[in-house]
Amino acid sequence: MKLLFVASELAPYAKTGGLADVVAALPKTLARAGHDVRIVVPLYDTAKLDGVTLTQVAELTIPLGSHRYPVRVLALGTAPTIYFLHCPPLYARGRLYTSDADEHRRFLLLSYAALELCGRLDFAPDVVHCHDWQAALIPLLLKTIYARDRHLAGARSLLTIHNLNYQGGFPDSIGPDTNLTHVAHLFHQELLKAGRVNFLLQGILYADGVSTVSPTYAQEIQTPAHGAGLDGFLRARKTTVVGILNGVDYDEWSPENDRYLPARYSAADRSNKAICKQALVESLGLPYVPSAPVVGIVSRMASQKGFDLLGEVLPGLLQRNGFQLTVLGSGEPGLEDMFTRLQRAFPRQVCFYQGFSNKLAHQIEAGADMFLMPSRYEPCGLNQLYSLRYGTVPIVHKTGGLADTVRPWHPRTRTGTGFVFEHHDAAGVRWALQAALATYRDPPAWSRLIDNGMAADFSWDRQARRYEYVYEKLIGTDR
Ligand code: ADP
Repeated sequence: MKLLFVASELAPYAKTGGLADVVAALPKTLARAGHDVRIVVPLYDTAKLDGVTLTQVAELTIPLGSHRYPVRVLALGTAPTIYFLHCPPLYARGRLYTSDADEHRRFLLLSYAALELCGRLDFAPDVVHCHDWQAALIPLLLKTIYARDRHLAGARSLLTIHNLNYQGGFPDSIGPDTNLTHVAHLFHQELLKAGRVNFLLQGILYADGVSTVSPTYAQEIQTPAHGAGLDGFLRARKTTVVGILNGVDYDEWSPENDRYLPARYSAADRSNKAICKQALVESLGLPYVPSAPVVGIVSRMASQKGFDLLGEVLPGLLQRNGFQLTVLGSGEPGLEDMFTRLQRAFPRQVCFYQGFSNKLAHQIEAGADMFLMPSRYEPCGLNQLYSLRYGTVPIVHKTGGLADTVRPWHPRTRTGTGFVFEHHDAAGVRWALQAALATYRDPPAWSRLIDNGMAADFSWDRQARRYEYVYEKLIGTDR
């Protein structure tokens, strides 16, 4: 199949979260299976491209309403080929996402340039795989402006929702920039009357297929509690909404071959995990106490992640249990402050590294004993999957992909891979942490728990086959 991926993130060049990992790994797996896969992403000024040679393959001019943007398209690699859109007036902002007045144009450009490029490259995709709101207007573009395009008339669209809460909502004054005013009746009319447009909603309405990143999240987003105002539209399309779990790129995330670790280990011989633990705590300025469990967190600091519960629970637990906590992340100031205060109150037990560091993310996965994800909701979650592979026991809220991937530990049957709490409140997370700490004090049980987790397989090969099946079904149906 010929597959065109359009997304705002791609690891390692442009990453704020899991989307980047998926857009890097899934095309790689599909290309290995023999498909012709191309990826189109913005070239942000923050992209680290040292030692990478890009080749210019096209120059485009993209009109958006009264604006015109020249774009140089720079290609990298084959199978899959990545096309970077070089357009400094839109992408040189020092970060991936902004709240600038032209934010909508930054990703309209991505959408239009991706489609225009198909003609230039003489590439007729069978499926345009659109990711999140940034590419969610593409299905409507395919059904209108590009409906008779030689390269795109036959293309089907799949919209994957990585997080329903980021929707790309804008005032209707941006309308002219979409170049779609002649088909304004195809925008959701009630919303338009209220003076708004919503890119993700337009995608849900017009994509040939809609998917999200875990089976449980696919169900949850069809309920008012998790539907972020769009559950009714998702329910209306329930026969086309599928949940496919993200996989793990084990080339990047395996303790056997992780280039960021001071020592490697495997399921067969985990002895070097202790070296990783010692190096982690010492590099963060904490004393190394072999018997003290280390809890890790690597995350965007967003209310979605449920860390507000920890402010109430952690001080008491840290005081009574003597464990250590290593936290990596940045985001909402209130959550950052909470971890800064914890670090001040428990300087020998807590280290909060504020920022983004892929290297430290790997070192925490390997060096920690437990990994904490009390997410309020979690479309899939990748860190719990990495944790399982690194023998780092996940402690998670039973929601979305966390519910689908972490099996609760049962001491009697010695089955399960982590600790799962059902009620998203302080008592829930306290119970789970206490259960994990108690099990840690029972070495045979703990060892079994780690073995169970390390044996779990979330490789992309299996998940990519599910996407293949969805693409094939889309190709076989009328548009
Ligand atoms: P989300 O996409 O909601 O942020 P996921 O669990 O799906 O959550 O993916 C998060 C990804 O981003 C993981 O690869 C994680 O290691 C990475 N990550 C998050 N915060 C940081 C950080 N501060 N430094 C390095 N990597 C981070």
